[in-house]
Amino acid sequence: MNEYDSMKVLDLMREQEKFEVTDNEKEADLLVLNTCSIREKAQEKVFHQVGRWKKMRGENPDVKIAVGGCVASQEGENLRKRAPDVDIVFGPQSLHRLPELYKRELETGQSQMDVSFPKLEKFDLIPKSESTDASAFVSVMEGCNKYCSFCVVPKTRGHEVSRSVQDILDEVKHLVKKGAREIHFLGQNVNNFKGEYQQAKSSLADLIRLTGEIDEVERIRFTTSHPHEFKPNLVEAYSLVPQLVSHVHLPVQSGSDRILKLMRRRYDVERYLSLIDDIRRVRPEMSFSSDFIVGFPGETKDDFQATLDLVEHVKFDESFSFIYSPRPNTTAAEMEDSVPLEEKKERLAILQEKLNMLSFSYSRRMMGSIQRCLVTGPSKKDPGELQGRTINNRIVNFKRGSAREGDLVDLEIVDVFSNSLRGRLRDGDDNLSYKAG
Ligand code: SF4
Repeated sequence: MNEYDSMKVLDLMREQEKFEVTDNEKEADLLVLNTCSIREKAQEKVFHQVGRWKKMRGENPDVKIAVGGCVASQEGENLRKRAPDVDIVFGPQSLHRLPELYKRELETGQSQMDVSFPKLEKFDLIPKSESTDASAFVSVMEGCNKYCSFCVVPKTRGHEVSRSVQDILDEVKHLVKKGAREIHFLGQNVNNFKGEYQQAKSSLADLIRLTGEIDEVERIRFTTSHPHEFKPNLVEAYSLVPQLVSHVHLPVQSGSDRILKLMRRRYDVERYLSLIDDIRRVRPEMSFSSDFIVGFPGETKDDFQATLDLVEHVKFDESFSFIYSPRPNTTAAEMEDSVPLEEKKERLAILQEKLNMLSFSYSRRMMGSIQRCLVTGPSKKDPGELQGRTINNRIVNFKRGSAREGDLVDLEIVDVFSNSLRGRLRDGDDNLSYKAG
């Protein structure tokens, strides 16, 4: 989501102020920091970075410093007090106002702030993306109404608002014309999308079906799903829309019903597992990744063991796990936290080892298989080669042959590394032979 917002900031400043990106901060007119407040560490990095830029001002006194994103929204006035060198503060919902705030700052010499939630105005004012990437993000909704007890998002990004389906389809068609073949729908609670279509409320499943009807859309992904909102019509979409990829990120956070209740997640382990079964019934090759919070206040050894048991049962692929970090103005921050940090670190190490093992065994099972990959651009390891992405998001580097960016190609997996795979370009129409589970 933040990556998407950063691209939009860039599009805006390019179009309205004729700005370009520079690799050299010392020659910049404007330095923009797009922030995340999901964990305390990320938040502290913001002040560290602003401090570094402040020192740099000795060499470039006219440069302006802008801080956007969730830390800006959460801290607001506090940010200006703690970091008076920041000239502009803007929130995730008001990023489209950055050019206006920048101009006002230049005219008045006064610092500017706008962390309001002006609903969908942002999407009306942001210029169309000029990206020619094979894979394109499309934000379909903003905010979240779930109020999980550990999370700041409903406060930093506001309540859920969905874009209209037509607006989204127009953006998809524009991106496809520019070369996109994979459309990745984004939203904090994306499967609760309720955009208007032909004067009625539609669902994410409807949006996916309509997107699948657009020529040249070869793949559709969506992030981030809440298990509680994963309704039967979305499960059914896996049987109706072949472009919907056989991989989904479905954050579970914990394998203990007691902890899930304290987290206010609105599902239990039984419901989560039956959802996984339902999806696998429709798409047996489906793979799942997830998010985990370790050391939530009051998490016992048994609760943690329940998380390990769940991981073993589902056999998650490439997942994210973090130690719980109390966030301001959340209910969990008020809960008694009796688990010592050392113990949390040990639990995280155990969980990550298990997740890494599972992920690597997925990769190993891909060895020798033929994978349908979307060519996303030059390889980062060797720009003379190309890089593609498998359905389950593995990077595959390969010799380019006749392939070009944006193609869907069949690659035989000939080597497996911890962060990538090595492929060999195949001609003809081999079928995907990779099996999850
Ligand atoms: S659903 Fe996700 S974004 Fe919404 S409150 Fe819960 S963790 Fe935060």
